[in-house]
Amino acid sequence: MSLPFDKIKVLHVASEMHPIVKKGGLGDVVGSLPKAQRELGIDSRVLLPMYPSIDENVKRKFKRMPHKLYIPLEWRVFPGFLWKANVQGVPVYLLEIEDIPFPAEVYPSNLNLNTIKPFFLFSLAALEFEKSARWRPQILHLHDWPTSQVAIALKWHMHYSSFSHLYDTVLTIHNLAHQGIIQETDLIPWGISKEAFNIDGLEYYGMINLLKGGIIASDAITTVSPRYSWEIQTKEYGMGLDGVLKKYSSKLRGILNGIDYSYWNPLTDPFLPAHYDIDNISPKEECRRALLTRCKWDEDHLPILIYIGRLVEQKGIDLLLYSIESIVGHGCRLIVLGEGNEVYEQSLKEASAQFPANVFVKIGYDEELAHLMYAGGDMLIMPSYFEPCGLTQLIAMRYGTVPICRAVGGLADTVIDADTAHDGTGFLFSHYSSEALLHAIGRALGAWNSPELWSQIVRNCMIADFSWSRSSMEYAKLYLELLGVSDLRSF
Ligand code: ADP
Repeated sequence: MSLPFDKIKVLHVASEMHPIVKKGGLGDVVGSLPKAQRELGIDSRVLLPMYPSIDENVKRKFKRMPHKLYIPLEWRVFPGFLWKANVQGVPVYLLEIEDIPFPAEVYPSNLNLNTIKPFFLFSLAALEFEKSARWRPQILHLHDWPTSQVAIALKWHMHYSSFSHLYDTVLTIHNLAHQGIIQETDLIPWGISKEAFNIDGLEYYGMINLLKGGIIASDAITTVSPRYSWEIQTKEYGMGLDGVLKKYSSKLRGILNGIDYSYWNPLTDPFLPAHYDIDNISPKEECRRALLTRCKWDEDHLPILIYIGRLVEQKGIDLLLYSIESIVGHGCRLIVLGEGNEVYEQSLKEASAQFPANVFVKIGYDEELAHLMYAGGDMLIMPSYFEPCGLTQLIAMRYGTVPICRAVGGLADTVIDADTAHDGTGFLFSHYSSEALLHAIGRALGAWNSPELWSQIVRNCMIADFSWSRSSMEYAKLYLELLGVSDLRSF
C-alpha cells in the first residue's frame, strides 16, 4: 500500500537553509529535508527571513509575490512581502518586512526585545503567509527558538490563538543550548496574553524562554537523534529544560538527521580534484595530495586527522587543544577548520605556529576547504561534550574518512566502534578527557597501520546509509499522526 503523503502540505519556518543561508547543521537540515519530503510526494515548502547578507546573485533568483501581507505589532501594522523561487525543486519564500531589517549576522549576539523583534514578526508572518502565497499548509514545521514563536503565538497570542485549529505544529530542537532567553518579562504589547508568563508557559527564572514556550505550545517535538531525545531529559544534558522535556516526553521523539547524498557525494563533488566511490576508492589519494599541497606539506604518508566545525565548548575543543602535542608526537598531521570562540581560535593558531609541519589551522568558514578535507583526510576528530546529531561525522563517513568521536547524542547513534564490531565505522570514547580521546586515536592508529583492516573500516563507512530516505519517512508518519490519519486507507 502506498502511503498518502501527497496530501500533506508542510511549511518549514526556519532561520537557515543551505545554500541560501547557513550557520550550522540546522541550515543543512532545512536545505535537505524538504527536498527529501518532496520526493515522498509531500508538498513541502520553506519560509526564511530575507537577511541583508544573502548573496545578491541568490536574491536575484527570487520574484516578489504580488500580494502584501500585514503583520500587527504594538500600535502599528508592518507590511511584508514574500519573494519566491524554486531552490532545487523546493518552493522557497523569503520574507521582507518594511522598516524591520533582519540581522546581517543571522543570529543577534545579544538577545533582547529589540533584537528578537524581527523573529517575532517573522513568526507572526508565518500565520499570515497564505494571504500572500495563496497556499495554506496544514503543518507548520518549526526549528529552534527563532521560530518556536509560531507555536507560542498560536497558543497565547490574543489574535493568532484563534488560528490554532488551522495548523498542527512540529518543533524540531536542533540544539538545546540555544533557547532564546530574554530578560524582559512583558510581551503583552506584542499581543501575548499575561497568562503565558507563568511556570507552565514562557516564564524561566523570572525571564522569558522562547524554546520552553515552543516546547509547551507545539503539537509535537522532535530532536535530531534518538539518543539526544533522552539525553535532554537528564540533568546533565537538559540545559535547565530537562524537567519540561520530561513532562512533555509523550510528544517528544528523536528522528536522526540525514545528509543530502546528492550534494555530499565524492563521485560528483565539484570541489574535489578527483572523484571516487566504494567501487574505486583510489582517487581519494589524489584528494589527499591536493589537501597536503593546500597546507604546503609534502607527502610523507602520515595519517591526516581533521576537525571541521564551530570552535565552541560544546565541540570539545578543550580536549583537542590538550591533545595536540600528543597527536603530533604520534606522527600525525592535524588540519583544523572552524571559527568561534576567540580564545580557541588564538590557541589553535599558536599550535600551528608551534608545529608548522604537523598542524594546519584555517580560521573561518570555507566550504571548498571543508570538502577537500572530508575527501583528503584519513580520520575525523569529534570529541563533543554533547552533540544533538552531528552531520560532520556523517559527511566524513560518506567520504571514507573514519570518525573518532565521543559516544554522545547522534555520534553514539551513528558511529559503530570498529574494535567491537565487524561492521565498525569508527572509534568511540566515553569519558570526557583528553586521555580518553588520545586512547581512541591510538586505537585508530593501530587499525590504520593494518591496511587490510583499515580499508575494511573505510568501506564500512562508505556503505553506511545516512541519506534522508528513512528519516524523511519518519517525519511523514509523524505528520500523518498529527493530521489524525490513523487508518491510512481512509485518508
Ligand atoms: P553544528 O553543531 O554546527 O550544527 P553539525 O555537525 O551538525 O554541527 O553541522 C556542521 C555543518 O557545518 C557541516 O556541514 C560542516 O561541514 C559545516 N561546517 C562547520 N564549520 C565549517 C567551516 N568552518 N567551514 C565550512 N563548513 C563548516
